[in-house]
Amino acid sequence: MSIGAVEAARNILTRLHDVMASRSHAQAKLNTVVEVIGECLDSEVCSIYLLREGMLELFATRGLAQEAVHVTRMAVGEGLVGTIAEDIESLNLAEATAHPDFSYRPETGEEKFHSFAGVPIVRRERAVGVLSVQHVEPRRYDDIEVEALQTVAMVLAELITNADLIDEVDVLSASGGQTGPEQLRGLTLVKGLASGVAVYHQPRITIEHVVAEDTEAERQRVILAFDKMREQIERMASQAEFGVGGEHEEVLATYKMFAYDEGWTRRINEAIDSGLTAEAAIERVQQRTRMRMRQIDDPLLADRMHDLEDLSNRLLRIVSGQLGTAATMGLRNDAILIARNLGPAELLEYDRRRLKGVILEEGSLTSHVVIVARAMGVPVLGRVRGLRGKVRDGELLLLDSDQATVTIRPSAGLIEAFEGRFARNRERQAVYAALRDVVPVSADGKRIAVMINAGLRDDLANLSLTGADGIGLFRTEFQFLVSATLPARERQTRLYRDVLEAAGNKPVLFRTVDIGGDKTLPYLRHDDGDSEENPAMGWRALRVALERDGLLKAQARALLEAAPDRTLNVMFPMVSEPWEFDAAKAVFDGQLAFLRRRKKRVPEAIRYGVMLEVPALAEQLDLIAPKIQFLSIGTNDLTQFLFAADRSNPKLAERYDWLSPAILRFLRRVVRTLDGQPIDITVCGEMGGRQLEALALIGVGIERLSITPASVGPIKALIGKLEVAAIRAAMEEWLAAPPVSMREALTSWATERGIVLD
Ligand code: PEP
Ligand code: MG
Repeated sequence: MSIGAVEAARNILTRLHDVMASRSHAQAKLNTVVEVIGECLDSEVCSIYLLREGMLELFATRGLAQEAVHVTRMAVGEGLVGTIAEDIESLNLAEATAHPDFSYRPETGEEKFHSFAGVPIVRRERAVGVLSVQHVEPRRYDDIEVEALQTVAMVLAELITNADLIDEVDVLSASGGQTGPEQLRGLTLVKGLASGVAVYHQPRITIEHVVAEDTEAERQRVILAFDKMREQIERMASQAEFGVGGEHEEVLATYKMFAYDEGWTRRINEAIDSGLTAEAAIERVQQRTRMRMRQIDDPLLADRMHDLEDLSNRLLRIVSGQLGTAATMGLRNDAILIARNLGPAELLEYDRRRLKGVILEEGSLTSHVVIVARAMGVPVLGRVRGLRGKVRDGELLLLDSDQATVTIRPSAGLIEAFEGRFARNRERQAVYAALRDVVPVSADGKRIAVMINAGLRDDLANLSLTGADGIGLFRTEFQFLVSATLPARERQTRLYRDVLEAAGNKPVLFRTVDIGGDKTLPYLRHDDGDSEENPAMGWRALRVALERDGLLKAQARALLEAAPDRTLNVMFPMVSEPWEFDAAKAVFDGQLAFLRRRKKRVPEAIRYGVMLEVPALAEQLDLIAPKIQFLSIGTNDLTQFLFAADRSNPKLAERYDWLSPAILRFLRRVVRTLDGQPIDITVCGEMGGRQLEALALIGVGIERLSITPASVGPIKALIGKLEVAAIRAAMEEWLAAPPVSMREALTSWATERGIVLD
């Protein structure tokens, strides 16, 4: 903004401030506003059009015929005013009639005015009205004047909202340039269908006051907010807590660049000088940038724009003190949550009854937030780009994660079709649910154990709902993730006891805490507080537990005390060397001895196991085998280490296939090495819950799967149709001479045998 624009805007704002503060009613205020603007810009005409019942209605004018007020109405997209509202963009014309969209309204008497400038009045990123000026003389308005009009339009947006001059319905139905349905594609992370209103995890701030009382105070607020924001970004960089891996470094670098960008701070300060509050100034600058960027069609720039939006929103939240996420504010309707990325703990803060679906702009199949969502039965669509520019808070969305799409602004027909699919889906679920009491035995008589993965108290119901054989992986860290502080030992005991009780005679394999990687806890950090370059390969899981042995001791006591007189199954995550198992087991032995000395009841038997997630352990199976009773293969981590591909990195989300001979041969070798030993081998990664992958796993000799509850039905259905001997023979051949696509080979194999894949 130039000095002239600052002054022009300030002059108008000072006068508008008095108008706004006056006690007159809204229509009188609008009448005064058009007079003030007309005078200040020395413009013969100034008019305000507002959206009413879907039409832009002339609400106040200086210079046009007064009889036209509340009579002249235009559709969005009609005439110059309608075009401004539709495009949410300003127009500045020396000769209005020369514009192709010009539409003449005789009742206004506007034929004598040649020049025209108009700006949209924007609320919640939609045009709810138009402010325009007209002049007899054919001259373009100065940019300064248009800028001043844009600033005034913000004040009008506030006035309109406070005076209830437009309906909420009108705001929601205002086209904003796009009216028809639109479908965006993404990557299916958790299958399923859901409909609900769009809710941004980081909500946009509603600006309450636009005109400043004290410009100096506003300037100070912005300075403080910038300081705080920069601090936050520095902290994010040092803790790498932003998002869950992936592109965060690039994003952080951009954040930093913007956070220290002098141009940005200068423009905000200038907007404050013109009389706006800190919030309005930030928004004003953002609006202007948004409009400029809309004219540039460059995906790279669009990405950067997105980062600046993020940051601008962050700054707004800081300055307005509205710091919570949508979770802290609570979901009021069935909702589809939208976020760039989320941590598992952030997701768990949402009300499970209202959270129907999640759309991430990033995300990958095995990131923990996705695992948690899968366990919650919430469909997730990832890698949907450009969502933010297209979806507005509160809009209805149809999420079809089965087809990897989300539909915005669905038509009645689309909603109906979607509901039909929903119903068919439910029918299919009912068929699977009916398999609850069916024992998973293959067509040639092989019993395959099908267990579920769990981690929260709410998951326990799934055990009886699915009729699973037990809990093959209980992720104890979930309790830690949902707590604000380290859960006390007693609380841990209580949860474990409840889990065992719910499981009855069925086994539960408790995994000791696996914190770190993409599961960070604010209250548990590395001593140096330093960031880790590669958290998935860093200070996590058993590595943390052995160093902070107080944590493991408490957990060991909690587990031992929770299972008096019954069998306790304990496994350790991320074991890389046999000595780590020994050290962890020693902690359990110590606690067991302690309880025995105190004559406390202890488990009747303790079975120990390890997770096979680090390839190094596979080379030492002979060394670890005599010490363990079971081995659980965590294919999520194992594949990221085998392929050297970060499981949280969205760029790699589709690169490697679980059906690669690399993984299948590896797993077959593990099975063969332990053949004949009294060790239960289970696969508990996400892979086992997918039908084709499960088929391949059974083909390499796996007989125990622990999977997400929603997969139990489909996997049981598959097993019932399957000849285990036949798939093993086929897999032998394929692994000796791998087909071009294992996926295709398995699919045809199954279809030829009448196995219907979901
Ligand atoms: C795995 O790595 O496959 C696993 C089951 O553990 P998590 O997903 O919790 O890391
Ligand atoms: Mg793991």
